[in-house]
Amino acid sequence: MRKPVLIGNWKMNGSLQANQALIVRLLPQLRMFRKFMDLAVCPPLPYLFQVRDLLGYTGIALGAQNASAFVSGAYTGEVSATMLQEMGCRYVLVGHSERRTLYGETNQDVAARFRAVMSVGLTPVLCVGESLEEREADQTSTVVANQLQAVIDEVGLLSLAKGVVAYEPVWAIGTGRTATPEQVSMVHQEIRSFVGRDASEASQDISEGLRIIYGGSVKPENAFDLFSLSDVDGGLIGGASLHSEGFGAIAGALAEASGFLTDECETN
Ligand code: PEP
Repeated sequence: MRKPVLIGNWKMNGSLQANQALIVRLLPQLRMFRKFMDLAVCPPLPYLFQVRDLLGYTGIALGAQNASAFVSGAYTGEVSATMLQEMGCRYVLVGHSERRTLYGETNQDVAARFRAVMSVGLTPVLCVGESLEEREADQTSTVVANQLQAVIDEVGLLSLAKGVVAYEPVWAIGTGRTATPEQVSMVHQEIRSFVGRDASEASQDISEGLRIIYGGSVKPENAFDLFSLSDVDGGLIGGASLHSEGFGAIAGALAEASGFLTDECETN
């Protein structure tokens, strides 16, 4: 059984004061769910220290929004995976569509970043997904397969599965436009089949164990329907993760969709 995972991506939002208020309100909302799922928040880099201290030993993990492919050196503006590990991060997003589209990260760059994150023992969250033009041109499967293949070429299938894959259709991120459960289900199944395509027992096991989460305008109102899909193992949440009650409600939807009873959660 795959453990559900829910990650909040704060993007470039927050301040010392706002982060403190958000975490203080978020902790009681998430407390009852933490036994049933892996929970994490990814604040902007300057706030990692603050948020790490606020999270303390709550079991809610710290994540970062990107990492350099390099260990150290003359890479102004970049941050290495080792530095993130030292700051207490457990997860690192790689290949978020905003990085790919706004900052030109290619599939190969993303694969190198994935490797760097893995190599220091952190969990990379590999974001994949197609643009609207690509979907309309019927290229979704090819685009996603190429994004996955670049990482498989770099680190191998086994290492890919030690990370988490986040399917995030670019047209659904921050737009309020959510993919339908049918669209999500189809791509998640395709990802799982792609990973298990050589039909050997080992690759079937890897494919079965791979956690594939969905991201793109997930809100409390649509979370249950998306998380109930059999190949969806959780969510990567942008805008809605900035609101404690909304993020708490999304965690509740994930717990319920994963078969945990509300009263079971409440006693924990
Ligand atoms: C994201 O940034 O990964 C994301 C899914 O954003 P939003 O939930 O706001 O669409």
